[in-house]
Amino acid sequence: MPLLQLDKIHISFGAQHIVRGVSLQLEAGEIGCLLGPSGCGKTTLLRAIAGFQGLQLGTITMANECVSSPNQLTPPEQRGIGMVFQDFALFPHLTVAENISFGMRKASAAERRARVDELLTRIGLPGYQKRYPHELSGGQQQRIALARALAPKPRLLLLDEPFSSLDAELRERLAVEVRELLKQEQITALLVTHDQQEAFAMADKAGVMYQGELLQWETPYQLYHQPRHQLVADFIGHGVLLQGTVNASGSLASPLGMLEHPSLLTVPDGTPVSFLVRPDDIVPDTNSRLRGRIKARGFRGAHNLYSVQLNSGIEVLTLSPSHEQMNVGDEVGLRPEFDHLVVFAADHCELPGFHDQAPLVRPFTPPVSTAPPAQPVPTSPKAKSA
Ligand code: ATP
Repeated sequence: MPLLQLDKIHISFGAQHIVRGVSLQLEAGEIGCLLGPSGCGKTTLLRAIAGFQGLQLGTITMANECVSSPNQLTPPEQRGIGMVFQDFALFPHLTVAENISFGMRKASAAERRARVDELLTRIGLPGYQKRYPHELSGGQQQRIALARALAPKPRLLLLDEPFSSLDAELRERLAVEVRELLKQEQITALLVTHDQQEAFAMADKAGVMYQGELLQWETPYQLYHQPRHQLVADFIGHGVLLQGTVNASGSLASPLGMLEHPSLLTVPDGTPVSFLVRPDDIVPDTNSRLRGRIKARGFRGAHNLYSVQLNSGIEVLTLSPSHEQMNVGDEVGLRPEFDHLVVFAADHCELPGFHDQAPLVRPFTPPVSTAPPAQPVPTSPKAKSA
């Protein structure tokens, strides 16, 4: 039985449809994460789960009990939900201990003290009971805000951009710490963030929202490697979408060479498709006839991320260990090395059946005459830090 279940929920403000037919579920103890561009409806969805926002259609169920439907809105305080927001919102005139125990009104003084001590130890701040919020760093304040939300042992914790005001390094560290804490406390949580690294570090399930719709709700691995929609491929991670055409013999004529896969045999001859090429799908290979020139290099710690313009004019991305440095302007050979294919039809939805096996890639043969190439659709660089 899922702890949280959203079934085809729909939320409008006047004529504006903000959340459209969203369904998702979280099992008890799971951490879910919603990603998506600004204004796509993430916070509205969270507010609906918390009970601050009614539904026009659909239902929200917690542990098999309906809490929201067009005819029903169980008040927030009866839902057993804790919330953590971006702006911490600690009470400045209360000590850390008073802030944490604020929501434990029904507990005895001894129970409160014990819970405060336990949580401060878990968040790595033992002995901070008597401090005031202004005596804490931003990261410490956010840990206290989290402890305050966890203190009454909510059934579900909602986190809306909880780390966005912190610097990137602290954000990543906190995301890992918070995941551990939630797992120790066995709390189900739903997090909204713009930061995919944060989502990948924390989530058991993650989804991308776009214009009110939830395009996919699966594991972070599946979002990255098996995006079901072109917009998910575009939003998550680096990559480019290349265009190709399926021919009668079930091959995909592409700018990287001829790709063959059994599932292509089910696609009608002449069908235009696009397919996803991640940086890890292409490796530098001096002997390859697929050649290009390095246009840009981005240092990513262990790896460099290169943007390479192929001789056909098309740009692709590739990764290489950063100790093997290549320079902008260098000529390089590249070899496609797909583990699996992600192929999209003209409607931007994924064609099924391409995940199970790697395609055979016929070695690239440079064309005799060079017609102007079809341009790839770069997946946008927004919020990318793969
Ligand atoms: P961000 O990532 O920028 O926080 P979001 O995905 O959380 O964005 P929401 O805050 O859910 O987006 O807002 C979605 C849309 O709904 C926006 O266009 C917003 O202006 C609109 N909206 C939100 N609340 C209301 C409201 N109470 N009345 C009218 N419109 C609203």
